[in-house]
Amino acid sequence: MIINRERKRAILKTLKKQHGLLKAYNMYKNYIGNLKPLCASCGSAIYYYSEWQETGYEIKQCTNCGWMHQSFGLNDELVTKGFYYYGKVNESIFKAFNRQLEANAVERKRMRVLFLSKKKSQQKRK
Ligand SMILES: [Zn+2]
Repeated sequence: MIINRERKRAILKTLKKQHGLLKAYNMYKNYIGNLKPLCASCGSAIYYYSEWQETGYEIKQCTNCGWMHQSFGLNDELVTKGFYYYGKVNESIFKAFNRQLEANAVERKRMRVLFLSKKKSQQKRK
């Protein structure tokens, strides 16, 4: 079955309205089949490139949150603000990485609130 683009957009819009962005995107992805994966913490599409089968190299990156996960065969590189790791990963390292991501997300939110309140007060002065 071929679905035209306008109809796809309408489907996603309806799903979004009913289920929220992340859940809607996942449902839509299963339905359509060829969409980019989403960042778990901010919900924007992440950069994903894999040649896992050929060379063992794989990269996932979210430029919005500023994190990167590269794999070189057995070794992994995890990078985000305040966290760097290269080597074999295990569950506790992933946990530490995710904790740092959450902390960064909280900090980003705080800065955003500060920025908006500053902007607001500047607008009032005019
Ligand atoms: Zn993100």
